[in-house]
Amino acid sequence: MKKRRALVREEAARRGVDGFLVTDIRNIRYLSGFTGGSAYMLVTAGRDWFLTDSRYGEQARDEVRAASLRIYKKPLEAIAALVSELRLKVVGFESNNLTVDAHGRLRKVLSGVRLKPVSGFINGIRARKDRFEIEQLRASARLLSLCYETTERMLRPGVVESEVAFEAEAAARDAGAEGLAFDTIMASGWRGALPHGKASDKRVRKGELVVADMGVVFNGYNSDCTRTYCVGRAGAREREVYQVVLDAQRRAIETIRPGVPCSEVDRAARDYIAEAGYGGYFGHGTGHGVGLDIHEQPVVGPASKDALAEGMVITVEPGIYIPGWGGVRIEDMALVTKDGFEILTGTAKDLLCL
Ligand code: ZN
Ligand code: ZN
Repeated sequence: MKKRRALVREEAARRGVDGFLVTDIRNIRYLSGFTGGSAYMLVTAGRDWFLTDSRYGEQARDEVRAASLRIYKKPLEAIAALVSELRLKVVGFESNNLTVDAHGRLRKVLSGVRLKPVSGFINGIRARKDRFEIEQLRASARLLSLCYETTERMLRPGVVESEVAFEAEAAARDAGAEGLAFDTIMASGWRGALPHGKASDKRVRKGELVVADMGVVFNGYNSDCTRTYCVGRAGAREREVYQVVLDAQRRAIETIRPGVPCSEVDRAARDYIAEAGYGGYFGHGTGHGVGLDIHEQPVVGPASKDALAEGMVITVEPGIYIPGWGGVRIEDMALVTKDGFEILTGTAKDLLCL
């Protein structure tokens, strides 16, 4: 945490602010270890301050290290009092998080102080994971593999999508997952063409492809993986589309190493799918960073300005979605290593017919 806050302090100084107000609760967790739901942090050159209300007092005393704790009744007034005590002149705030309302009220109570909007720089720091975070992401991905074992055991003609999803989720919860990263996607047959087809009461039929996209949370860290299965024998078209997506994903993964623009990772998958004649059926970005948030920096898409760096964890998830027919998506989490990548979600990926 100390090292993380030192990075924030450096960056704050570079941006000419003498105090930085952190309002994004995930960023607060990242900088303090606090797992509660409501708090503020003020990072200054000399010292860091952690502010929360009395409901979280005990928890903050237990979890938050190396920051001075203040309990407030009214948060903005407490922040204002602290800022004037410390005689801060320019206070940076997270303009990508603070609401317009809160900003207006803050400006009122902080008269004489310049409020400087700063967008997403802690999120930028968070893109590169430290050792502790990589361990949590590994553990999260390991728990997630139990969901897939359960899915593979349960998928058969006649089973209901939501029953499979429920059992898969229960397997991860049983083994220690604290929750789900997002609503489980279990989309069979034509529903596979919906990239966000949440598990429904549709029954799986023989010969259908099933897209299973799941994620769990472990110690605050999200995991994210997609497999596409065939129930019964796969037809020629099912096999062909599956192979195109699998090869596209392999090509994208093989580009991963520090310094490579994220747009290039995306392009490797996108160009391959286009060359195979399915260019019109891949509408979303190839991937995203994953950590305390399920979608975070970097962006892995055609217009991304981000570049890969050691310690980043991204997903690679190309797909082909054909309305009325179905879809295929294959997704893994990859850690960017010093000279390449390591897959965190690895299980076999050849088309599995259940
Ligand atoms: Zn996913
Ligand atoms: Zn994803």
